[in-house]
Amino acid sequence: MQIINFHGVGRPERVLEPGEGPFWLGTEQFRFLLDQIAGHADRGNLAITFDDSNISDLTIALPELLKRGLSASFFVLTGRLGHPGSLAAADVAELHACGMAIGSHGVDHSDLTKLSATRLATELAQSRAMLEEICGSEVNTFAIPFGRYNREVLHSLRRAGFSAAFTSDGGIAREQSFLKPRRSIRNQMSPQEIESALSGRLPVLKRLRRAAGMQLKQLS
Ligand SMILES: [Zn+2]
Repeated sequence: MQIINFHGVGRPERVLEPGEGPFWLGTEQFRFLLDQIAGHADRGNLAITFDDSNISDLTIALPELLKRGLSASFFVLTGRLGHPGSLAAADVAELHACGMAIGSHGVDHSDLTKLSATRLATELAQSRAMLEEICGSEVNTFAIPFGRYNREVLHSLRRAGFSAAFTSDGGIAREQSFLKPRRSIRNQMSPQEIESALSGRLPVLKRLRRAAGMQLKQLS
């Protein structure tokens, strides 16, 4: 399965973090991509996710997904709930009620590899508990901020009860594996890069380099 990861869409309604700009898509660009996904020959093998719980998840992404009969997983930062430009608790509940899956992206958008063991455990447990209360159902998936992880982060995620960790490694996500690599869409990607993300076809060398990188992170 190929997992396509989006961030914000349209005009940001909050101050962006350094390096975040390239991941924001224009509304037209986003619609065009969803059309490509909806009409793709490999559609059955494509999944869609959104990180960072921007307000555009609700105002732009949700109606565009529903229009095309698509669904997606939304990974929420609980520390930003109700902040300007971000989803509020009621918005998360609405996404869930509309058939979208809700997962955790942590509390404060922290690089998890830099947190103490205690802080890491709290970040994971707190965000999960809050989202379960909002949705009234179990939350088992986690998207790792900035795709930065190591062995300790993966252990903590398992210990906190998550059954899948979504990364930004790119490549194919396997049904039974705990790590789910994704391709994050940037606004400057070429049509060829987009097609390679959707079809999951990568040059052999690039695929090998990716696999090696994931191995190293899991061992470090
Ligand atoms: Zn993020």
